[in-house]
Amino acid sequence: MGIVERALRKLRLAVPGWHRRHAPRTAAADSLEQSPVAEPVEEGLVLSGVCPVCGMNARFTGFTDNPRESGRCSNCQSFNRQRQMAYLIRQQCGLSQGGSWHFPSGLVIYNTETTGALHLQLNGLPGYVCSEYFGDEYRSGEMVDGRRHEDLQALSFADNSLDLVMSSDVMEHMPEPYAAHAEIFRVLKPGGRHIFTVPYNPLLVEDQVRAKIVDGEIVYLEEKAFHGDPVRPDEGVLVWTIFGLSMLARLRSLGFEATEWDLDESTHGIVGPGALIFEARKPPSA
Ligand SMILES: [Zn+2]
Repeated sequence: MGIVERALRKLRLAVPGWHRRHAPRTAAADSLEQSPVAEPVEEGLVLSGVCPVCGMNARFTGFTDNPRESGRCSNCQSFNRQRQMAYLIRQQCGLSQGGSWHFPSGLVIYNTETTGALHLQLNGLPGYVCSEYFGDEYRSGEMVDGRRHEDLQALSFADNSLDLVMSSDVMEHMPEPYAAHAEIFRVLKPGGRHIFTVPYNPLLVEDQVRAKIVDGEIVYLEEKAFHGDPVRPDEGVLVWTIFGLSMLARLRSLGFEATEWDLDESTHGIVGPGALIFEARKPPSA
């Protein structure tokens, strides 16, 4: 263990619980969620307050040993991680945490998923676009069964065309996540933001690359791990990367202003430690 890792361990920085959406999951994915430093959430924890996803007064219950992926809103069924996304989006877009969603007119918002509690709140708003990844046999921008297909590593959007990109535990599911970040930089307007969550381990200095493509074939550097995928419930989706401290530096080298937020907003149903969410902003002068 290096000096930096030791120092971080001493500080007891919490590792967020990893992604847990739906079955199937692998044992390797489960082991990724075990943290030597994560602190358990008090058993039977009940929170109440304004839910940033639905904007209503609600109770938040059912927190598990993976608090990031649990604690359902009594109104919209959102869980902790979805509220973290909604909270930071509302804050950075100048919206209050309560009430229905009203973005300033003309804003173009792109969500990299077409399911979930936050999508249900935003779907139909003017300027809202959403997509899924359906496989490399499709071209970005193509419609597949009524949903738009986009490969984040080769987006169909024009340069400088989006105000806000949202991705929630998506960037770990592709072989070249920084190619995707560079694409997002290209399509964001100057001053636009990418607000996102990823499996992130602050005890890692470098990203842990778990799989990569060599001569067109997937080479596994770690045990295969799959996360549940609402779009392909029978298959799951491969985890290519667990991100470490170097992620922020790499985002900055792409031109972003990169910020890590550690939220603790219990009156909005958000609990930490480890409620980490990231913002990559294209500078207004870019
Ligand atoms: Zn809610």
